Amino acid sequence: MSKIVVAGVSVDTGHFIGGQRVYSAETFSDHSPIDGAFLGEISRGGAGEVDLAVAAARAAFPGWAKTPRIERARIMHAIADGVEARLEELAQVETHDNGALIRSHRRGVMPRVAHNFRFFADWLLNELHHDPFETRGHTNVVSWDPSGVAVLITPWNAPLMLASWKIAPALASGDTVILKPAEWTPLSASLLCDIAKEAGLPDGVFNVVQGLGNEAGAALVAHPGISRISFTGSVPTAKLVARAAADNLTPCSLELGGKSPLIVMEDADLELAATLAAEQYDNAGQVCLAGTRLLVHEKVREDFVVAFKERVSKIVQGDPRVEGTDIGPQIHEKQFTKILGYIDRAKTAGAQIEIGGSANGDLGGLYIHPTLILHAAPGSEILTDEVFGPVLTLQTFSTDEEAILMANGTEFGLAAVLVSGNRERAERISEQLVAGTTWVNCFFVRDLRAPFGGARKSGVGREGGSWSFDFYSELKNTVFSPNGWRD
Ligand code: NAD
Repeated sequence: MSKIVVAGVSVDTGHFIGGQRVYSAETFSDHSPIDGAFLGEISRGGAGEVDLAVAAARAAFPGWAKTPRIERARIMHAIADGVEARLEELAQVETHDNGALIRSHRRGVMPRVAHNFRFFADWLLNELHHDPFETRGHTNVVSWDPSGVAVLITPWNAPLMLASWKIAPALASGDTVILKPAEWTPLSASLLCDIAKEAGLPDGVFNVVQGLGNEAGAALVAHPGISRISFTGSVPTAKLVARAAADNLTPCSLELGGKSPLIVMEDADLELAATLAAEQYDNAGQVCLAGTRLLVHEKVREDFVVAFKERVSKIVQGDPRVEGTDIGPQIHEKQFTKILGYIDRAKTAGAQIEIGGSANGDLGGLYIHPTLILHAAPGSEILTDEVFGPVLTLQTFSTDEEAILMANGTEFGLAAVLVSGNRERAERISEQLVAGTTWVNCFFVRDLRAPFGGARKSGVGREGGSWSFDFYSELKNTVFSPNGWRD
C-alpha cells in the first residue's frame, strides 16, 4: 500500500492492473505547478508492468466483450455517478496536479468527465446500429465488434477530461483498456481506478500504468498484444507512436497540436471578437484548440486592439485554487522556459511585445503574463510553431482571400475561429478553412455527437459519436444468403 494525501484526498501512487494496485521499485516525483510543492513519488512502470497490464487486459477481454450492451452501459453510468459523488475531490486533486483552475474543474471539466461516460453509454444503447440492407436478395448486417486491448496515452493539459473521451467509448465498444497518463499529472487517473472498482467494473477491464513516456508509454505502444492506440499529445511524440505501431500494424488515432487562427473580419462585432480572443489565454494558453494567431482586418485593427487590451487588463492571474482566478501557472519549468524562449527570440527578431512578454514577477514560480506579439516576421517560428502558452500574435489582412491564405498557412489544421457579422460571408470563408473544427462567432462549444480531430499534422482520425466506436471496434459486415436454410 502506498498512498499520498493531496488537498486532503488520499491518492494511491501505484499502477492499477487486473483490479489490483501494483507498485514499482522505481518511482518518479510529482510536483504541483502552483508553488512547486512536492506531491509524492509515483510508481514508474516499464516493460515488466506493461506486460502485466497487457496480460490482465487480454484476460479480461473475452468476458467484457460478451457483456451485454445494457450491462456495459449500466456500469459506465455507475462510473459517472462515482465521478459526480467525488467531484470536489477530483477537482481539487487535478488543480493541485496540473495547475488549471479549480473553478473550471468544479463547474466544467469534472461534470464533463461524468457526461463523457453517460454519453457513450447512451450512444451504445440508442444510436449504435445500422439498418440491414439488401444486395441481390442477400442481407448485409453491419456490427461493431470489440477489438481487444485499447492503449490510451494522454497529455497533462486536461488529464481526466481527455482520458475519459477515450476510456468511455473504448469501454462501451467492449474493449479492455490500459491508460498511461502524462507523468506530470498522474493523480486523477488513480482516483478514477478507485471509482471504476467501486462501480463494479470487472477486474482487468480498466488498467492504469503510470510512468514516463519513453519507458511505459513506448513499451505500451510497441506491444504486440494490443489492438488499438489512441494518443493525444504532441506531433514529435505522435511520430514515435506511429512508428512503433507500424511494426504490429496497430491502428492509431492521433489527436495532436495546433496553431489555430482567430479571424476578425471588418464587419465583426468587435466586442465579441475581443472577448473570444481573450479566451484564448484560458488554461494559461495550454489548450490544443486555442486560436493563437489573431488575423484581423486592417480596417478594424486599431479598434480591435483597444477592445482586446481592455479585456486582457481584467484577467486575474494567480493561484488556481482561488475561485476568482482566471489564469494559473504553466505546467512545468520545461514549458515555462520553452515559452519564454519563444517570446525572447521573437523580440530579438524584431517583433513588438504589445502586452506582457515576461514571467509574472509578482507571482514568481511558473506564471507568465498573457502576451500579445505584433509585427512578427512572416514565416518566423512564433507564427508557425505551437507555443502552448499564453502567447498570441496579431497579423492583419485586407481581403477575404488573404485571410484564408494566412489562416491555412501552417502545417496544422486543428481548429479555426471566425468572427464576422455577415452570415453568407462566414459560410463561404469557413468552407475554405482547413480545420477539424471551425467556430463562427463562438469558441469551445463541444458536443460529443460531432466529429473531433485535426487535419494535416494536427491529427489522424476523429473522435466523437459513432466515429469513436468506429475506431475502437472491428467493424464487420455479415452477408446472409436467401438460400441454403433448412429451418
Ligand atoms: P507529449 O507528446 O509530450 O506527451 C503526451 C503523452 O505521450 C504523455 O503521456 C507522454 O508520457 C507520452 N509519451 C511520450 N513519449 C512517448 C513515447 N515515446 N511513446 C509513447 N508515449 C509517449 O505531449 P504533452 O506535452 O503531454 O501535451 C501537449 C501536446 O498535446 C500539445 O501539442 C497539444 O496541442 C496536444 N494536445 C492535443 C489535443 C487534441 O485533442 N488534439 C488535446 C490536448 C493536447
